[in-house]
Amino acid sequence: MFEKILIANRGEIALRILRACREMGIQTVAVHSTADADSMHVRLADESVCIGPASARESYLNVPAILTAATITNADAIHPGLGFLAENADFAAMVEEHGFTFIGPTPEHIRLMGDKVQAKTEARRLGLPTVPDSDGAVATVEAALEAAARIGYPVLVKAAGGGGGRGMRVALDESQLRGAFSIARSEAKAFFSNDAVYLEKYLMRPRHIEVQVLADGQGGVVHLGERDCSIQRNHQKILEEALSPALNAEQREDIGRRVTDAIREIGYRGVGTIEFLYEEGAFYFIEMNTRLQVEHPISEMVTGIDLVREQIRVAAGATLGYGQDAVRLSGHAIECRINAEHPETFLPSPGRITEYHAPGGPGVRVDSHLFSGYVVPSNYDSLVAKLIVHGNTRNECLMRLRRALGEYAVGGIETNLPLHRRLLTNRDFLDGHYDVHWLERFMAAER
Ligand code: ADP
Repeated sequence: MFEKILIANRGEIALRILRACREMGIQTVAVHSTADADSMHVRLADESVCIGPASARESYLNVPAILTAATITNADAIHPGLGFLAENADFAAMVEEHGFTFIGPTPEHIRLMGDKVQAKTEARRLGLPTVPDSDGAVATVEAALEAAARIGYPVLVKAAGGGGGRGMRVALDESQLRGAFSIARSEAKAFFSNDAVYLEKYLMRPRHIEVQVLADGQGGVVHLGERDCSIQRNHQKILEEALSPALNAEQREDIGRRVTDAIREIGYRGVGTIEFLYEEGAFYFIEMNTRLQVEHPISEMVTGIDLVREQIRVAAGATLGYGQDAVRLSGHAIECRINAEHPETFLPSPGRITEYHAPGGPGVRVDSHLFSGYVVPSNYDSLVAKLIVHGNTRNECLMRLRRALGEYAVGGIETNLPLHRRLLTNRDFLDGHYDVHWLERFMAAER
């Protein structure tokens, strides 16, 4: 087992990884920008190294600085967390070339799944159903129009290298497609340095359902059930539940088996998420994420499996040591993403936390780096806490979540806690009747 792990990330996820290391008796190295010198992950780590100024490009994305920090602290392995360098295949390769273990999949698997066009081709080869699409990237408006005529409107123009809900444009007809195509292309170029775009059939009422997998690269593969991440704004997840209120046990077992078969066939190692859209009983693969996800705790809550610990174990060469039979899905869990943002305008709300009280009690888990007196910097994304609640049934979970949201007090900055509280009073949400466009309809109706 590793003696020392460098955590190449910040915020709540750096803390989450640090906690797993500590429980495993592994030493930790925190890296941080000048803006994060006072951060909780830095305070709690065994060692810390400043890797650059506030700008992420010069710190958390600064590969030479991170590798140097690993060298001078004598770390054995690097955990990339999520975001930043977590899905950068070149980084994973460079980590290994410098003699450290990359806690994640092989660079080849990261690269394969990082290109959504290639990933969909691979998914089809593995027998997973996909959303009807342009069958490869479209390079010209003419090719886009031709593909759209074949697929049927509405269509969605998507960036092959996209992520985080960016680089996506809906087109209802030919004239909209002309505009959407060029906008999506320039956005893709600006955000992802890759202007390849493709077209997908735009589904009107899908749910976003994703399957969590865990594999040792030596034949051991299990799934941890699914997460329903349909509560979204601007294609970004706000609240997630495990398991999905829309699936029955038979559908769950069927999709779980298909996914684990596919993952075994490609010899994948590490944690991963296979994302689907789900509409009228049918699943459509959209992408695979080759890293830990923000919403991983709800899968941990319903299975009792520590995904970060398992990530570290398989990266160190261990086999899983258990099969699907040992994975028991129990009860229901919901995660609320707490963002430092204005509840109506959604503009970021950085600043000093003047008051902080996190909820507790039965079934409540809070993953957050916040504390009273902490200053939320303006340089990074706005996720500052995750409130995760477990109950024996979905109803118990909802009651508990409403109680916990009531206890949560964050002063000095604005957050989206009021939005979560309002959601918990809505009949459709409480009944589990929602799709990926539901939250935007809900918010429009409130205005
Ligand atoms: P990203 O990698 O940027 O998160 P995804 O491909 O995972 O992008 O899609 C994010 C979200 O966008 C989905 O959860 C869904 O809400 C919406 N979306 C993506 N593809 C489609 C589609 N073909 N039809 C309707 N909505 C879609």
